[in-house]
Amino acid sequence: MKDRKKMVLIVDDDPQIASLTSAFLERAGYRTSTALTGRAALEKVSSDLPELVLLDLNLPDLSGEQVLRWIRKTHEDTSVIIVTGFGGEKVAVDLMKAGAMDFISKPFERRVLLEAVRAALKIRDNLIEEKRHEGYSSLDKFFPFLAHEVRNPLHAIGGALAIIQRRSNLNDHLVAQSIKIIQEEVQHLNEFVQECLDFVRPPAASRYVPVEIKELVAAVMNVVSYMFEHLSQKIQVTLDLDSGLPKIHANYEEMKQAFLNIVKNAFEAMPEGGKLVIKASPLFNAGSDWVRVAFLDSGLGIKRENTGSLFNPFFTTKLRGTGLGLALAKRIIEDRHSGKIEVESEEGKGTSVIVELPVDVRENMAAV
Ligand code: ADP
Ligand code: MG
Repeated sequence: MKDRKKMVLIVDDDPQIASLTSAFLERAGYRTSTALTGRAALEKVSSDLPELVLLDLNLPDLSGEQVLRWIRKTHEDTSVIIVTGFGGEKVAVDLMKAGAMDFISKPFERRVLLEAVRAALKIRDNLIEEKRHEGYSSLDKFFPFLAHEVRNPLHAIGGALAIIQRRSNLNDHLVAQSIKIIQEEVQHLNEFVQECLDFVRPPAASRYVPVEIKELVAAVMNVVSYMFEHLSQKIQVTLDLDSGLPKIHANYEEMKQAFLNIVKNAFEAMPEGGKLVIKASPLFNAGSDWVRVAFLDSGLGIKRENTGSLFNPFFTTKLRGTGLGLALAKRIIEDRHSGKIEVESEEGKGTSVIVELPVDVRENMAAV
């Protein structure tokens, strides 16, 4: 996708200038299209979806400003460079305020044109990339704030509760039960806040070390056995880990978190017991070594209509869910380790979560 040639629309009422500019930009590696009037420009913007428009202000029908404003309103991912005749700089500067990215004056040198085109397309790419991350970044800012605001009162509540507990008559069933409810709720909120923070915590590049899948899985199962003490008798866990598995280059704590979130979901999907198989095998993918880890549970499965939402932050079907478990796992596996995570499920039968990780994430990161 990255290699797709960018399209530049050249708007100029002089057919000769339009075609010369077009030929030059095509030689420089762009696709081009031309329009000799303002109206033709509007049509071509809609039909050809150019990444960039070179807009001459001297058009027979519409003013350059009209064309610019229309593009800004209807095609926000299309950038515009204004081309002015001699003395048109003042207008050009005004049009920059109206959303043009740059301007060049006629007659221009080819080198100047090419530099302006390159720079404008680069800025455009950056803007689009920023927009793609906007959803994340608002959460990134909000979660630490939330954590701070919620944690302090929670500490206070927890402390006060401990005093009440010590001084109360716990033989009074209602009192004891109420205290227990508050304790559980406080713990739930604490966990929620922790999950929110884990979700946004920036990756520490220095923490990437060789990690053995076997060790990772053992650590996760250890945590899970404490978390689900009441279930561990009823769930039969089978580990099928290929003995010749290469170590992966990973952030140990993060990957443990991702695996833990997956296994927790599997346990929660088997409240009456069941089977969990964790199978790890080597994989050769796109010329490099990968490891494939599959988590197969015989739990409740996932409703078809929910399959598209599983990785969305806050999507949960659980009374007590945060909906951050898989969102975080995906962030860790895909964004921070260049891997893949997929979920397949059949309602009533069970779910498989497939994780694929490049053995050497650095190789892949460099290629991104
Ligand atoms: P949470 O566990 O807090 O609900 P997650 O992001 O971990 O949030 O999971 C989102 C949803 O995906 C769950 O509420 C559940 O509906 C579904 N899900 C995830 N894993 C499984 C699984 N192994 N079996 C059944 N449903 C699952
Ligand atoms: Mg979960």
